[in-house]
Amino acid sequence: MSCIFCRIIEKRLSSRGVYEDDRVYAFEDINPQAPVHTLIVPKKHIPTILDVSEEDNELIGHMFQVANRIAIEKGIADRGFRLVMNCNHESGQTVFHIHLHLLGGRPMHWPPG
Ligand code: AMP
Ligand code: ZN
Repeated sequence: MSCIFCRIIEKRLSSRGVYEDDRVYAFEDINPQAPVHTLIVPKKHIPTILDVSEEDNELIGHMFQVANRIAIEKGIADRGFRLVMNCNHESGQTVFHIHLHLLGGRPMHWPPG
């Protein structure tokens, strides 16, 4: 299995888990870009946003619900936070297994870099 996030989901590689259920696993980003930087990852291996299909609609919605829950638990919901999902190389995608970045705990700039 060559996908690093599949290996993390399978617990073959260590991570700092935040939340887990039958469909998603959330863990702390190894190179945090903000005081809160958690990755919400579907257990299903989907390489990019472009590979999301109709059958994934509920899964994608569930990822947002999990992100909301973690934002509330980490105390950044009212202050504000950012959800980011990169697609392909110009966006900065480096891991080709989709993931939502939950970023917060500091003011965010716009436009993003
Ligand atoms: P992206 O560039 O959008 O594909 O995001 C990939 C993210 O995964 C980056 O923020 C990395 O810091 C993070 N990352 C890579 N390897 C690991 C790992 N082993 N554990 C936790 N986060 C990781
Ligand atoms: Zn994968």
